[in-house]
Amino acid sequence: MAIQRPKGTQDLLPGVVEQWQGLEEQIRKICKEYGYQEIRTPMFEATELFQRGVGETTDIVNKEMYTFLDKGDRSITLRPEGTASVCRAYVENKLYGGPQPVKLYYIGPMFRYERPQSGRFRQFHQFGVEVLGADKPMVDAEVITLVWDLYSRLGLKGLEVHVNSVGCPTCRPEHKQKLQEFLEPHKEQLCKDCQSRFEKNPLRILDCKNSSCQEITQGAPTTLDVLCEDCAGHFAELKRLLTAAEVVYKVNPRLVRGLDYYRKTAFEVLVEDIGAQSAICGGGRYDGLVQEVGGPQTPGIGFAMGMERVLAALKLSQEHQDEDKKEFLMLVALGEKAQSEGFAIISRLRKKGLPVSIDLLGRSLKAQLKAADRVQAKYAGILGEEELSKGIIILRNLRLGEQEELTLKEFEEQVLKQYKEDGNQ
Ligand code: ATP
Ligand code: MG
Repeated sequence: MAIQRPKGTQDLLPGVVEQWQGLEEQIRKICKEYGYQEIRTPMFEATELFQRGVGETTDIVNKEMYTFLDKGDRSITLRPEGTASVCRAYVENKLYGGPQPVKLYYIGPMFRYERPQSGRFRQFHQFGVEVLGADKPMVDAEVITLVWDLYSRLGLKGLEVHVNSVGCPTCRPEHKQKLQEFLEPHKEQLCKDCQSRFEKNPLRILDCKNSSCQEITQGAPTTLDVLCEDCAGHFAELKRLLTAAEVVYKVNPRLVRGLDYYRKTAFEVLVEDIGAQSAICGGGRYDGLVQEVGGPQTPGIGFAMGMERVLAALKLSQEHQDEDKKEFLMLVALGEKAQSEGFAIISRLRKKGLPVSIDLLGRSLKAQLKAADRVQAKYAGILGEEELSKGIIILRNLRLGEQEELTLKEFEEQVLKQYKEDGNQ
């Protein structure tokens, strides 16, 4: 039997690979303009880096890592994300000793053992940005604006930017306590994952995808209710700057990153229509992470963008646009009399708002049908001298290749009806 590629991986063949190159080109261009430099770290790292840098309580570390012993008995993990590696490289190469902040970006494959489905792979690609060594709200605003700007340049439609503040070690303990008090009476009804989150990491219960957990957490206290002065001021300034940069955003108090070293800003970009996997970008501030991987206390913020999902969203908005451009019906009229009758029909349909057209060059049947094909018209109405003398017209469905003969009146009614049934008003 022929050998197949591993589950959850893809071959990017010529024809598709150009879309990837195009996206990468746009990414590199915008990063250059914003003053971000590329970093390339190894595809695999010591397992401990992710245990510490991503966190033992996360799904990534608990369930999704490709971990193995190499021949020297070292525990190695294929990187599931980029932030931990970038922080390690920052520390290991003493980048904290140079000019700050350090503004970096990466593009490359990540590996997670997940259930493959649309928009979810075992090898997928991320574009990510990290800013290390700066803690002002303007940094947060800059990275979110970069994402927004990239998406506008790509022409992505139907985006939602969600922002939140998850507080810091000063204000989070109070929130944790309030949240546990709120959830205590419903503890038994929570899903199994959330029951184990209850003690260790109750904040994460707020973004559980399980609908019964979501119901239970309706009205639960959010971090925004208890932000300390520093965090509240930071969040207010971030919102002000985003508005000034004309980024359209929503505050979503349910958006959380549950780990200790995540501080203040969390954000996510969602896109309509690409299905259940609608998050195309996630990020936040991680002022405790560099220290966690053994470096000096250093503020940091970044995001990671799923490139497969961005390309899927782009393909969809392209299809919507193409759909808009298509003609609904092309009237193929042959001979002067038929042309003037056809013109009257078309004019009536246009008055009703239908995207229809008629040949203006007096071309042959074949040439007209070819033109209808070129504009991807769904229907053709064919009216020759013979049809006209019988008071009929042929309605041909160009996609299905079926046709029927109708009286002129029936024809107009039928076209209108079809147009409405296709989802147009
Ligand atoms: P999800 O909730 O979809 O599992 P996540 O919270 O695990 O996402 P992050 O770790 O924040 O995602 O990664 C950032 C982005 O990377 C996501 O918003 C998504 O676009 C993309 N991504 C994550 N996992 C996958 C995957 N298995 N396949 C494809 N893209 C992915
Ligand atoms: Mg995930």
